[in-house]
Amino acid sequence: MTPEGWVVLFAGAAVIGVVTALLVWRRRERTPAATGLAVTMSGVALWSASSALVNSSASVVVHDGYPAVLMAAVGLAVAGTYALARGVVDPSWRPRPRLLGLLAVEPVVMVVLGALPATRDLVLDGHGAGGMGVDHQATLGPAFGVHTLYSYAVIGVSYLRLARRWRTAVGLFRRQLGVLLLSAVVATVGNVITIVQQLDGHGADFTPLFFLVTGLVDCWAVLRLGFLRLVPVAREQVVDTVPDAVLVVDPADVLIDLNPAGRRLVALLRPELDAGDLVGRPLAEIAGDRARAGFARAEELDGHRLAEVDDGVWIDIRDTPVEDSRGRALGRILVVRDVSEQQARQAAVEELNRQLAEQVRVIDRLRAELAEEAVRDPLTGLHNRRHLDQVLAGGLDTAGADHGLAVITLDIDHFKAVNDRFGHAAGDTVLTAVARLLQASVRDGDTAVRLGGEEFLVLLPGADREQAVLRAEEMRRGVAAVVHAFGGERIRVTVSAGVAVRSGAGPTAGTLLEAADRALYVAKATGRDRVVAADDALPGPADAPVPEPAPAV
Ligand code: GH3
Ligand code: MG
Ligand code: MG
Repeated sequence: MTPEGWVVLFAGAAVIGVVTALLVWRRRERTPAATGLAVTMSGVALWSASSALVNSSASVVVHDGYPAVLMAAVGLAVAGTYALARGVVDPSWRPRPRLLGLLAVEPVVMVVLGALPATRDLVLDGHGAGGMGVDHQATLGPAFGVHTLYSYAVIGVSYLRLARRWRTAVGLFRRQLGVLLLSAVVATVGNVITIVQQLDGHGADFTPLFFLVTGLVDCWAVLRLGFLRLVPVAREQVVDTVPDAVLVVDPADVLIDLNPAGRRLVALLRPELDAGDLVGRPLAEIAGDRARAGFARAEELDGHRLAEVDDGVWIDIRDTPVEDSRGRALGRILVVRDVSEQQARQAAVEELNRQLAEQVRVIDRLRAELAEEAVRDPLTGLHNRRHLDQVLAGGLDTAGADHGLAVITLDIDHFKAVNDRFGHAAGDTVLTAVARLLQASVRDGDTAVRLGGEEFLVLLPGADREQAVLRAEEMRRGVAAVVHAFGGERIRVTVSAGVAVRSGAGPTAGTLLEAADRALYVAKATGRDRVVAADDALPGPADAPVPEPAPAV
Protein backbone atom coordinates (compact mmCIF):
# COMPACT_ATOMS: atom_id res chain seq x y z
CA MET A 1 0.00 0.00 0.00
CA THR A 2 1.17 3.49 -0.69
CA PRO A 3 1.96 5.82 2.18
CA GLU A 4 -1.12 7.81 1.14
CA GLY A 5 -3.20 4.66 1.42
CA TRP A 6 -2.02 4.12 4.99
CA VAL A 7 -2.81 7.69 5.86
CA VAL A 8 -6.37 7.29 4.59
CA LEU A 9 -6.68 4.03 6.53
CA PHE A 10 -5.45 5.60 9.76
CA ALA A 11 -7.64 8.66 9.27
CA GLY A 12 -10.65 6.39 8.67
CA ALA A 13 -9.77 4.42 11.77
CA ALA A 14 -9.59 7.65 13.78
CA VAL A 15 -13.04 8.72 12.59
CA ILE A 16 -14.55 5.31 13.35
CA GLY A 17 -12.83 5.37 16.73
CA VAL A 18 -14.25 8.79 17.63
CA VAL A 19 -17.77 7.93 16.47
CA THR A 20 -17.73 4.59 18.29
CA ALA A 21 -16.32 6.15 21.46
CA LEU A 22 -19.14 8.72 21.44
CA LEU A 23 -21.83 6.12 20.76
CA VAL A 24 -20.55 3.82 23.48
CA TRP A 25 -20.08 6.67 25.94
CA ARG A 26 -23.77 7.51 25.60
CA ARG A 27 -24.65 3.95 26.63
CA ARG A 28 -22.57 4.02 29.81
CA GLU A 29 -25.63 4.51 32.05
CA ARG A 30 -27.24 1.33 30.78
CA THR A 31 -24.09 -0.69 30.42
CA PRO A 32 -21.44 -0.15 33.06
CA ALA A 33 -18.73 -1.77 30.91
CA ALA A 34 -19.32 0.89 28.23
CA THR A 35 -17.22 3.49 30.05
CA GLY A 36 -14.06 1.39 29.75
CA LEU A 37 -14.88 0.63 26.14
CA ALA A 38 -15.39 4.33 25.35
CA VAL A 39 -12.03 5.17 26.92
CA THR A 40 -10.35 2.42 24.89
CA MET A 41 -11.98 3.64 21.67
CA SER A 42 -10.95 7.24 22.30
CA GLY A 43 -7.37 5.97 22.83
CA VAL A 44 -7.62 4.05 19.57
CA ALA A 45 -8.97 7.16 17.79
CA LEU A 46 -6.14 9.32 19.11
CA TRP A 47 -3.61 6.63 18.25
CA SER A 48 -4.94 6.32 14.67
CA ALA A 49 -5.17 10.09 14.22
CA SER A 50 -1.60 10.58 15.34
CA SER A 51 -0.47 7.80 12.98
CA ALA A 52 -2.35 9.46 10.13
CA LEU A 53 -0.76 12.78 10.93
CA VAL A 54 2.78 11.54 11.40
CA ASN A 55 2.58 9.65 8.12
CA SER A 56 1.23 12.56 6.14
CA SER A 57 3.02 15.54 7.56
CA ALA A 58 6.64 16.54 7.45
CA SER A 59 6.11 19.16 10.13
CA VAL A 60 8.71 19.09 12.90
CA VAL A 61 6.04 19.97 15.43
CA VAL A 62 4.00 16.94 14.41
CA HIS A 63 6.95 14.59 14.57
CA ASP A 64 8.27 16.02 17.81
CA GLY A 65 4.85 15.81 19.36
CA TYR A 66 4.16 12.29 18.12
CA PRO A 67 5.82 10.27 20.92
CA ALA A 68 3.92 12.12 23.65
CA VAL A 69 0.57 11.80 21.83
CA LEU A 70 1.28 8.13 21.12
CA MET A 71 1.96 7.49 24.81
CA ALA A 72 -1.26 9.28 25.80
CA ALA A 73 -3.26 7.25 23.25
CA VAL A 74 -1.78 3.90 24.34
CA GLY A 75 -2.30 4.87 27.99
CA LEU A 76 -6.02 5.50 27.31
CA ALA A 77 -6.40 2.22 25.42
CA VAL A 78 -4.72 0.23 28.18
CA ALA A 79 -6.60 1.86 31.05
CA GLY A 80 -9.86 1.50 29.10
CA THR A 81 -9.24 -2.20 28.57
CA TYR A 82 -8.64 -2.64 32.28
CA ALA A 83 -11.90 -0.81 33.14
CA LEU A 84 -13.80 -2.78 30.48
CA ALA A 85 -12.75 -6.11 31.99
CA ARG A 86 -13.61 -4.99 35.51
CA GLY A 87 -16.99 -3.61 34.41
CA VAL A 88 -17.89 -6.76 32.51
CA VAL A 89 -17.01 -9.11 35.35
CA ASP A 90 -18.71 -6.98 37.99
CA PRO A 91 -21.27 -4.48 36.63
CA SER A 92 -21.38 -2.72 39.99
CA TRP A 93 -17.65 -1.96 39.80
CA ARG A 94 -16.72 1.72 39.77
CA PRO A 95 -13.11 2.93 39.60
CA ARG A 96 -11.96 4.55 42.82
CA PRO A 97 -10.00 7.82 42.51
CA ARG A 98 -6.94 6.06 43.92
CA LEU A 99 -7.04 3.45 41.20
CA LEU A 100 -7.53 6.11 38.52
CA GLY A 101 -4.50 7.91 39.92
CA LEU A 102 -2.42 4.74 39.81
CA LEU A 103 -3.50 3.96 36.25
CA ALA A 104 -2.53 7.52 35.25
CA VAL A 105 1.02 7.38 36.66
CA GLU A 106 2.66 5.40 33.88
CA PRO A 107 1.00 7.19 30.91
CA VAL A 108 1.73 10.61 32.43
CA VAL A 109 5.40 9.69 32.95
CA MET A 110 5.60 8.36 29.40
CA VAL A 111 3.87 11.46 27.98
CA VAL A 112 6.31 13.70 29.81
CA LEU A 113 9.29 11.61 28.64
CA GLY A 114 7.95 11.71 25.09
CA ALA A 115 7.29 15.45 25.23
CA LEU A 116 10.64 16.65 26.60
CA PRO A 117 13.36 17.01 23.92
CA ALA A 118 15.97 15.69 26.31
CA THR A 119 14.15 12.41 26.96
CA ARG A 120 12.18 11.95 23.77
CA ASP A 121 14.74 9.55 22.36
CA LEU A 122 14.18 7.28 25.34
CA VAL A 123 10.74 6.68 23.92
CA LEU A 124 11.26 6.74 20.19
CA ASP A 125 14.59 7.31 18.50
CA GLY A 126 14.74 8.69 15.02
CA HIS A 127 11.25 10.09 15.04
CA GLY A 128 12.39 13.51 13.81
CA ALA A 129 11.29 15.17 10.64
CA GLY A 130 10.91 12.67 7.93
CA GLY A 131 11.29 9.80 10.38
CA MET A 132 8.84 7.38 11.89
CA GLY A 133 6.56 6.62 9.05
CA VAL A 134 5.52 3.67 7.03
CA ASP A 135 8.66 3.98 5.03
CA HIS A 136 10.89 5.63 7.57
CA GLN A 137 13.08 4.40 10.30
CA ALA A 138 12.57 4.83 13.99
CA THR A 139 13.85 2.73 16.83
CA LEU A 140 11.97 1.98 19.98
CA GLY A 141 13.67 3.53 23.00
CA PRO A 142 14.30 1.82 26.35
CA ALA A 143 11.40 3.64 27.97
CA PHE A 144 9.16 2.27 25.24
CA GLY A 145 10.26 -1.23 26.19
CA VAL A 146 9.36 -0.66 29.83
CA HIS A 147 6.09 0.91 28.73
CA THR A 148 5.28 -2.12 26.57
CA LEU A 149 5.92 -4.49 29.47
CA TYR A 150 3.75 -2.38 31.74
CA SER A 151 0.94 -2.21 29.19
CA TYR A 152 1.00 -5.96 28.67
CA ALA A 153 0.96 -6.52 32.40
CA VAL A 154 -2.18 -4.39 32.82
CA ILE A 155 -3.88 -5.90 29.77
CA GLY A 156 -2.83 -9.38 30.88
CA VAL A 157 -4.42 -8.88 34.29
CA SER A 158 -7.61 -7.65 32.57
CA TYR A 159 -7.82 -10.66 30.26
CA LEU A 160 -7.04 -13.03 33.07
CA ARG A 161 -9.99 -11.58 34.94
CA LEU A 162 -12.24 -12.14 31.94
CA ALA A 163 -10.88 -15.67 31.48
CA ARG A 164 -11.46 -16.55 35.13
CA ARG A 165 -15.04 -15.35 34.92
CA TRP A 166 -15.48 -17.17 31.60
CA ARG A 167 -14.58 -20.48 33.24
CA THR A 168 -17.54 -20.35 35.63
CA ALA A 169 -19.98 -18.47 33.38
CA VAL A 170 -22.75 -20.22 31.49
CA GLY A 171 -25.11 -19.46 28.65
CA LEU A 172 -25.17 -16.13 26.95
CA PHE A 173 -22.81 -14.54 29.43
CA ARG A 174 -20.19 -17.19 28.71
CA ARG A 175 -20.58 -16.60 24.98
CA GLN A 176 -20.11 -12.88 25.44
CA LEU A 177 -17.02 -13.34 27.57
CA GLY A 178 -15.70 -15.72 24.93
CA VAL A 179 -16.16 -13.09 22.23
CA LEU A 180 -14.34 -10.49 24.34
CA LEU A 181 -11.43 -12.87 24.96
CA LEU A 182 -11.16 -13.86 21.28
CA SER A 183 -11.26 -10.25 20.15
CA ALA A 184 -8.44 -9.51 22.59
CA VAL A 185 -6.30 -11.98 20.65
CA VAL A 186 -6.64 -9.78 17.54
CA ALA A 187 -5.25 -6.69 19.28
CA THR A 188 -2.53 -8.65 21.02
CA VAL A 189 -1.34 -10.51 17.94
CA GLY A 190 -1.43 -7.29 15.89
CA ASN A 191 0.59 -5.47 18.47
CA VAL A 192 3.18 -8.21 18.78
CA ILE A 193 3.60 -8.33 14.99
CA THR A 194 4.00 -4.57 14.83
CA ILE A 195 6.53 -4.41 17.62
CA VAL A 196 8.58 -7.29 16.24
CA GLN A 197 8.46 -5.66 12.85
CA GLN A 198 9.52 -2.33 14.31
CA LEU A 199 12.41 -3.76 16.28
CA ASP A 200 14.72 -3.31 13.33
CA GLY A 201 13.54 0.23 12.96
CA HIS A 202 11.32 -0.36 9.96
CA GLY A 203 7.63 -0.06 9.43
CA ALA A 204 4.83 1.86 10.99
CA ASP A 205 2.76 1.13 14.09
CA PHE A 206 -0.35 -0.66 12.87
CA THR A 207 -1.49 -1.56 16.37
CA PRO A 208 -4.34 1.00 16.45
CA LEU A 209 -5.91 -0.75 13.48
CA PHE A 210 -5.90 -4.07 15.33
CA PHE A 211 -7.15 -2.35 18.45
CA LEU A 212 -9.93 -0.78 16.40
CA VAL A 213 -11.04 -4.21 15.16
CA THR A 214 -10.96 -5.54 18.73
CA GLY A 215 -12.84 -2.50 20.00
CA LEU A 216 -15.55 -2.82 17.36
CA VAL A 217 -16.05 -6.51 18.16
CA ASP A 218 -16.21 -5.63 21.85
CA CYS A 219 -18.82 -2.95 21.15
CA TRP A 220 -20.92 -5.53 19.39
CA ALA A 221 -20.46 -7.98 22.24
CA VAL A 222 -21.23 -5.46 24.92
CA LEU A 223 -24.05 -3.53 23.30
CA ARG A 224 -25.58 -5.77 20.64
CA LEU A 225 -25.20 -9.25 21.97
CA GLY A 226 -27.50 -8.38 24.84
CA PHE A 227 -24.61 -8.37 27.21
CA LEU A 228 -25.63 -7.32 30.70
CA ARG A 229 -29.23 -6.82 29.67
CA LEU A 230 -29.93 -7.91 33.20
CA VAL A 231 -28.63 -4.59 34.32
CA PRO A 232 -31.67 -2.34 34.30
CA VAL A 233 -31.74 0.95 32.49
CA ALA A 234 -31.74 3.09 35.56
CA ARG A 235 -29.43 0.81 37.48
CA GLU A 236 -27.64 3.52 39.37
CA GLN A 237 -30.74 5.53 40.12
CA VAL A 238 -32.88 2.59 41.13
CA VAL A 239 -30.96 -0.56 41.94
CA ASP A 240 -28.11 1.15 43.74
CA THR A 241 -30.36 3.33 45.85
CA VAL A 242 -33.21 0.97 46.80
CA PRO A 243 -32.95 -0.23 50.40
CA ASP A 244 -33.62 -3.77 49.20
CA ALA A 245 -30.73 -6.01 48.34
CA VAL A 246 -30.78 -6.83 44.63
CA LEU A 247 -28.76 -9.83 43.51
CA VAL A 248 -28.53 -10.99 39.92
CA VAL A 249 -27.55 -14.57 39.22
CA ASP A 250 -26.93 -16.34 35.94
CA PRO A 251 -28.71 -19.59 34.99
CA ALA A 252 -26.11 -21.55 36.98
CA ASP A 253 -26.92 -19.48 40.10
CA VAL A 254 -23.57 -17.72 39.98
CA LEU A 255 -23.75 -14.16 41.23
CA ILE A 256 -23.16 -11.71 38.39
CA ASP A 257 -24.28 -8.47 39.99
CA LEU A 258 -25.39 -7.03 43.30
CA ASN A 259 -26.18 -3.58 44.60
CA PRO A 260 -24.72 -1.84 47.69
CA ALA A 261 -27.64 -3.06 49.83
CA GLY A 262 -26.80 -6.57 48.61
CA ARG A 263 -23.23 -6.15 49.76
CA ARG A 264 -24.46 -4.91 53.15
CA LEU A 265 -26.74 -7.92 53.50
CA VAL A 266 -23.94 -10.34 52.65
CA ALA A 267 -21.66 -8.50 55.09
CA LEU A 268 -24.32 -8.94 57.76
CA LEU A 269 -24.82 -12.64 57.12
CA ARG A 270 -21.26 -13.58 56.20
CA PRO A 271 -18.88 -11.04 57.73
CA GLU A 272 -16.02 -13.41 56.98
CA LEU A 273 -16.48 -13.06 53.21
CA ASP A 274 -14.54 -10.49 51.20
CA ALA A 275 -17.22 -8.07 49.96
CA GLY A 276 -15.15 -7.23 46.91
CA ASP A 277 -14.94 -10.83 45.81
CA LEU A 278 -18.58 -11.86 45.62
CA VAL A 279 -19.34 -11.56 41.93
CA GLY A 280 -18.53 -14.77 40.12
CA ARG A 281 -19.14 -17.02 43.10
CA PRO A 282 -22.06 -19.44 43.36
CA LEU A 283 -24.97 -18.00 45.33
CA ALA A 284 -25.16 -21.06 47.57
CA GLU A 285 -21.54 -20.52 48.58
CA ILE A 286 -22.18 -16.87 49.39
CA ALA A 287 -25.35 -17.61 51.35
CA GLY A 288 -23.61 -20.13 53.60
CA ASP A 289 -24.97 -23.20 55.39
CA ARG A 290 -27.22 -21.44 57.89
CA ALA A 291 -28.96 -19.24 55.34
CA ARG A 292 -29.32 -22.21 52.99
CA ALA A 293 -31.02 -24.21 55.73
CA GLY A 294 -33.29 -21.20 56.36
CA PHE A 295 -34.25 -21.02 52.68
CA ALA A 296 -34.93 -24.76 52.65
CA ARG A 297 -37.42 -24.34 55.48
CA ALA A 298 -39.08 -21.26 53.98
CA GLU A 299 -42.45 -21.81 52.42
CA GLU A 300 -43.58 -20.26 49.18
CA LEU A 301 -45.86 -17.29 49.91
CA ASP A 302 -47.50 -15.93 46.81
CA GLY A 303 -44.32 -15.26 44.85
CA HIS A 304 -41.99 -14.64 47.74
CA ARG A 305 -40.40 -16.52 50.56
CA LEU A 306 -39.74 -15.63 54.17
CA ALA A 307 -36.79 -17.26 55.86
CA GLU A 308 -34.95 -16.95 59.14
CA VAL A 309 -31.39 -17.11 57.95
CA ASP A 310 -29.68 -16.37 61.25
CA ASP A 311 -30.78 -15.84 64.82
CA GLY A 312 -33.46 -13.16 64.61
CA VAL A 313 -32.48 -12.28 61.02
CA TRP A 314 -35.51 -12.67 58.77
CA ILE A 315 -35.33 -12.00 55.08
CA ASP A 316 -38.03 -11.83 52.48
CA ILE A 317 -36.97 -12.95 48.99
CA ARG A 318 -38.63 -12.24 45.69
CA ASP A 319 -37.25 -14.34 42.90
CA THR A 320 -37.87 -13.23 39.31
CA PRO A 321 -36.54 -15.21 36.34
CA VAL A 322 -35.24 -13.12 33.45
CA GLU A 323 -35.27 -14.15 29.80
CA ASP A 324 -34.05 -12.46 26.68
CA SER A 325 -36.37 -11.62 23.81
CA ARG A 326 -35.93 -15.13 22.41
CA GLY A 327 -36.93 -16.80 25.65
CA ARG A 328 -33.45 -17.90 26.66
CA ALA A 329 -32.85 -17.87 30.38
CA LEU A 330 -30.53 -15.03 31.33
CA GLY A 331 -30.72 -15.70 35.01
CA ARG A 332 -32.75 -14.49 37.94
CA ILE A 333 -33.11 -11.28 39.91
CA LEU A 334 -33.44 -11.78 43.64
CA VAL A 335 -34.85 -8.89 45.62
CA VAL A 336 -34.08 -9.51 49.25
CA ARG A 337 -35.46 -7.44 52.10
CA ASP A 338 -34.34 -7.59 55.70
CA VAL A 339 -37.64 -7.92 57.58
CA SER A 340 -36.14 -8.77 60.97
CA GLU A 341 -37.63 -5.67 62.60
CA GLN A 342 -41.12 -6.24 61.23
CA GLN A 343 -40.84 -9.87 62.21
CA ALA A 344 -39.81 -8.94 65.76
CA ARG A 345 -42.66 -6.42 65.95
CA GLN A 346 -45.10 -9.01 64.67
CA ALA A 347 -43.86 -11.51 67.22
CA ALA A 348 -44.36 -8.88 69.94
CA VAL A 349 -47.87 -8.14 68.68
CA GLU A 350 -48.65 -11.86 68.59
CA GLU A 351 -47.36 -12.22 72.14
CA LEU A 352 -49.55 -9.29 73.22
CA ASN A 353 -52.51 -10.87 71.45
CA ARG A 354 -51.82 -14.13 73.20
CA GLN A 355 -51.69 -12.37 76.57
CA LEU A 356 -54.86 -10.47 75.72
CA ALA A 357 -56.66 -13.66 74.71
CA GLU A 358 -55.53 -15.24 77.96
CA GLN A 359 -56.84 -12.24 79.91
CA VAL A 360 -60.14 -12.42 78.03
CA ARG A 361 -60.36 -16.11 78.93
CA VAL A 362 -59.73 -15.28 82.60
CA ILE A 363 -62.32 -12.50 82.49
CA ASP A 364 -64.84 -14.82 80.82
CA ARG A 365 -64.21 -17.43 83.46
CA LEU A 366 -64.58 -14.88 86.26
CA ARG A 367 -67.76 -13.56 84.71
CA ALA A 368 -69.14 -17.07 84.39
CA GLU A 369 -68.17 -17.74 87.99
CA LEU A 370 -69.83 -14.50 89.08
CA ALA A 371 -72.96 -15.34 87.09
CA GLU A 372 -72.93 -18.80 88.63
CA GLU A 373 -72.42 -17.37 92.11
CA ALA A 374 -75.32 -15.00 91.54
CA VAL A 375 -77.66 -17.96 91.12
CA ARG A 376 -76.13 -20.10 93.89
CA ASP A 377 -76.76 -20.12 97.58
CA PRO A 378 -73.41 -19.49 99.22
CA LEU A 379 -73.99 -21.73 102.23
CA THR A 380 -75.22 -24.91 100.56
CA GLY A 381 -74.11 -24.43 96.96
CA LEU A 382 -77.66 -25.19 95.78
CA HIS A 383 -79.32 -22.92 93.28
CA ASN A 384 -81.20 -19.97 94.75
CA ARG A 385 -84.57 -18.39 94.15
CA ARG A 386 -83.20 -16.16 91.39
CA HIS A 387 -82.17 -19.25 89.46
CA LEU A 388 -85.58 -20.79 90.02
CA ASP A 389 -87.19 -17.69 88.57
CA GLN A 390 -84.87 -17.88 85.55
CA VAL A 391 -85.67 -21.56 84.97
CA LEU A 392 -89.37 -20.90 85.21
CA ALA A 393 -89.08 -17.88 82.91
CA GLY A 394 -87.19 -20.10 80.50
CA GLY A 395 -90.40 -21.93 79.59
CA LEU A 396 -91.45 -24.11 82.47
CA ASP A 397 -93.87 -21.50 83.73
CA THR A 398 -95.93 -21.44 80.57
CA ALA A 399 -99.58 -22.12 81.14
CA GLY A 400 -100.68 -24.82 78.77
CA ALA A 401 -97.14 -26.05 78.17
CA ASP A 402 -97.45 -29.57 76.85
CA HIS A 403 -94.84 -31.05 79.14
CA GLY A 404 -95.44 -32.28 82.63
CA LEU A 405 -93.84 -30.68 85.67
CA ALA A 406 -93.63 -31.79 89.29
CA VAL A 407 -92.71 -29.52 92.20
CA ILE A 408 -91.58 -30.71 95.61
CA THR A 409 -91.25 -28.19 98.41
CA LEU A 410 -89.44 -29.29 101.53
CA ASP A 411 -89.09 -27.67 104.95
CA ILE A 412 -86.96 -28.94 107.80
CA ASP A 413 -89.09 -29.78 110.82
CA HIS A 414 -88.43 -27.89 114.04
CA PHE A 415 -85.26 -26.45 112.62
CA LYS A 416 -85.37 -23.51 114.96
CA ALA A 417 -84.93 -25.97 117.82
CA VAL A 418 -81.62 -27.22 116.31
CA ASN A 419 -80.37 -23.66 116.18
CA ASP A 420 -81.55 -23.01 119.67
CA ARG A 421 -80.02 -26.13 121.18
CA PHE A 422 -76.76 -26.48 119.29
CA GLY A 423 -76.14 -23.06 117.91
CA HIS A 424 -76.33 -21.41 114.48
CA ALA A 425 -73.25 -23.23 113.14
CA ALA A 426 -74.86 -26.58 113.90
CA GLY A 427 -77.96 -25.36 112.07
CA ASP A 428 -75.78 -24.50 109.09
CA THR A 429 -74.27 -27.99 109.14
CA VAL A 430 -77.73 -29.50 109.04
CA LEU A 431 -78.76 -27.21 106.18
CA THR A 432 -75.65 -28.18 104.22
CA ALA A 433 -76.24 -31.88 104.86
CA VAL A 434 -79.87 -31.69 103.71
CA ALA A 435 -78.80 -29.70 100.64
CA ARG A 436 -76.15 -32.28 99.79
CA LEU A 437 -78.71 -35.02 100.03
CA LEU A 438 -81.17 -33.17 97.79
CA GLN A 439 -78.44 -32.41 95.28
CA ALA A 440 -77.47 -36.07 95.18
CA SER A 441 -81.03 -37.15 94.58
CA VAL A 442 -81.77 -34.88 91.59
CA ARG A 443 -81.21 -36.14 88.07
CA ASP A 444 -80.21 -34.40 84.87
CA GLY A 445 -82.78 -31.75 84.08
CA ASP A 446 -84.02 -31.55 87.68
CA THR A 447 -83.30 -28.43 89.71
CA ALA A 448 -82.69 -28.33 93.50
CA VAL A 449 -83.16 -24.89 95.04
CA ARG A 450 -82.75 -23.45 98.52
CA LEU A 451 -85.64 -21.01 98.70
CA GLY A 452 -84.35 -19.46 101.92
CA GLY A 453 -83.99 -20.41 105.59
CA GLU A 454 -84.64 -24.16 105.90
CA GLU A 455 -86.96 -24.30 102.91
CA PHE A 456 -86.06 -26.14 99.73
CA LEU A 457 -87.68 -26.85 96.41
CA VAL A 458 -87.04 -29.44 93.73
CA LEU A 459 -88.32 -29.09 90.14
CA LEU A 460 -88.81 -32.37 88.30
CA PRO A 461 -89.72 -31.61 84.67
CA GLY A 462 -91.60 -34.46 83.02
CA ALA A 463 -92.22 -36.38 86.26
CA ASP A 464 -95.75 -37.66 86.92
CA ARG A 465 -97.46 -37.64 90.27
CA GLU A 466 -96.44 -41.14 91.27
CA GLN A 467 -92.78 -40.56 90.41
CA ALA A 468 -92.73 -37.20 92.18
CA VAL A 469 -94.23 -38.61 95.37
CA LEU A 470 -91.73 -41.48 95.24
CA ARG A 471 -88.83 -39.09 94.87
CA ALA A 472 -90.12 -36.89 97.68
CA GLU A 473 -90.41 -39.97 99.90
CA GLU A 474 -86.79 -40.94 99.05
CA MET A 475 -85.65 -37.49 100.01
CA ARG A 476 -87.62 -37.50 103.23
CA ARG A 477 -86.25 -40.92 104.21
CA GLY A 478 -82.77 -39.92 103.16
CA VAL A 479 -82.82 -36.84 105.40
CA ALA A 480 -84.22 -38.77 108.31
CA ALA A 481 -81.55 -41.44 107.99
CA VAL A 482 -78.69 -39.02 108.55
CA VAL A 483 -77.35 -38.82 112.11
CA HIS A 484 -75.78 -35.52 113.18
CA ALA A 485 -73.45 -35.30 116.17
CA PHE A 486 -73.41 -31.98 118.05
CA GLY A 487 -71.83 -31.38 121.44
CA GLY A 488 -71.74 -35.07 122.23
CA GLU A 489 -75.35 -35.49 121.18
CA ARG A 490 -76.53 -37.39 118.12
CA ILE A 491 -79.67 -36.10 116.47
CA ARG A 492 -81.68 -36.69 113.35
CA VAL A 493 -83.77 -34.12 111.55
CA THR A 494 -86.79 -34.72 109.41
CA VAL A 495 -88.40 -32.84 106.58
CA SER A 496 -91.98 -32.33 105.53
CA ALA A 497 -92.68 -32.19 101.80
CA GLY A 498 -95.47 -30.99 99.58
CA VAL A 499 -95.86 -32.29 96.04
CA ALA A 500 -97.76 -30.69 93.16
CA VAL A 501 -97.85 -32.10 89.65
CA ARG A 502 -99.23 -31.08 86.33
CA SER A 503 -99.31 -33.47 83.43
CA GLY A 504 -99.01 -31.76 80.06
CA ALA A 505 -101.14 -28.68 79.68
CA GLY A 506 -102.18 -27.36 83.03
CA PRO A 507 -101.65 -24.62 85.54
CA THR A 508 -98.62 -22.34 85.45
CA ALA A 509 -95.58 -23.30 87.47
CA GLY A 510 -96.44 -20.43 89.82
CA THR A 511 -99.80 -22.00 90.56
CA LEU A 512 -98.06 -25.34 90.96
CA LEU A 513 -95.64 -23.85 93.52
CA GLU A 514 -98.51 -22.48 95.53
CA ALA A 515 -100.24 -25.86 95.43
CA ALA A 516 -97.03 -27.59 96.62
CA ASP A 517 -96.73 -25.01 99.40
CA ARG A 518 -100.27 -25.72 100.51
CA ALA A 519 -99.52 -29.46 100.49
CA LEU A 520 -96.41 -28.81 102.59
CA TYR A 521 -98.49 -26.86 105.03
CA VAL A 522 -100.80 -29.82 105.28
CA ALA A 523 -97.82 -32.13 105.89
CA LYS A 524 -96.67 -29.88 108.68
CA ALA A 525 -100.08 -29.65 110.14
CA THR A 526 -100.65 -33.38 110.03
CA GLY A 527 -97.60 -34.47 111.98
CA ARG A 528 -94.49 -33.48 109.95
CA ASP A 529 -91.88 -35.95 108.57
CA ARG A 530 -94.23 -36.81 105.75
CA VAL A 531 -95.02 -36.19 102.09
CA VAL A 532 -98.35 -34.78 101.02
CA ALA A 533 -99.39 -34.49 97.38
CA ALA A 534 -101.42 -31.46 96.35
CA ASP A 535 -104.61 -33.22 95.36
CA ASP A 536 -104.50 -35.08 98.66
CA ALA A 537 -103.99 -31.83 100.38
CA LEU A 538 -106.64 -31.04 102.88
CA PRO A 539 -106.80 -27.54 104.03
CA GLY A 540 -105.47 -27.92 107.52
CA PRO A 541 -106.41 -25.73 110.46
CA ALA A 542 -104.70 -22.39 110.23
CA ASP A 543 -103.52 -22.65 113.79
CA ALA A 544 -102.49 -26.27 113.78
CA PRO A 545 -100.44 -27.08 116.86
CA VAL A 546 -96.70 -27.03 116.29
CA PRO A 547 -95.11 -30.32 117.34
CA GLU A 548 -92.18 -30.55 119.70
CA PRO A 549 -88.59 -29.95 118.45
CA ALA A 550 -86.65 -32.71 116.76
CA PRO A 551 -86.02 -35.49 119.17
CA ALA A 552 -82.48 -36.46 120.00
CA VAL A 553 -81.56 -39.89 118.77
P1 GH3 B 1 -91.44 -25.91 111.47
O1 GH3 B 1 -91.30 -27.32 111.87
O2 GH3 B 1 -92.85 -25.40 111.63
O3 GH3 B 1 -90.93 -25.64 110.11
O4 GH3 B 1 -90.60 -25.06 112.49
P2 GH3 B 1 -89.20 -24.46 112.26
O5 GH3 B 1 -88.54 -24.17 113.52
O6 GH3 B 1 -88.43 -25.34 111.35
O7 GH3 B 1 -89.54 -23.15 111.44
P3 GH3 B 1 -89.30 -21.65 111.76
O8 GH3 B 1 -89.78 -20.91 110.53
O9 GH3 B 1 -89.99 -21.28 113.02
O10 GH3 B 1 -87.77 -21.47 111.97
C1 GH3 B 1 -86.87 -21.43 110.93
C2 GH3 B 1 -85.57 -21.02 111.50
O11 GH3 B 1 -84.52 -21.20 110.62
C3 GH3 B 1 -85.57 -19.57 111.91
C4 GH3 B 1 -84.22 -19.06 111.47
O12 GH3 B 1 -83.45 -18.49 112.51
C5 GH3 B 1 -83.52 -20.29 110.98
N1 GH3 B 1 -82.68 -20.00 109.91
C6 GH3 B 1 -83.03 -19.37 108.74
N2 GH3 B 1 -81.95 -19.33 107.95
C7 GH3 B 1 -80.92 -19.95 108.60
C8 GH3 B 1 -79.56 -20.21 108.27
O13 GH3 B 1 -79.07 -19.87 107.18
N3 GH3 B 1 -78.81 -20.86 109.17
C9 GH3 B 1 -79.28 -21.27 110.37
N4 GH3 B 1 -78.49 -21.89 111.19
N5 GH3 B 1 -80.56 -20.99 110.69
C10 GH3 B 1 -81.39 -20.36 109.83
MG1 MG C 1 -89.11 -25.61 109.29
MG1 MG D 1 -89.75 -22.80 107.47
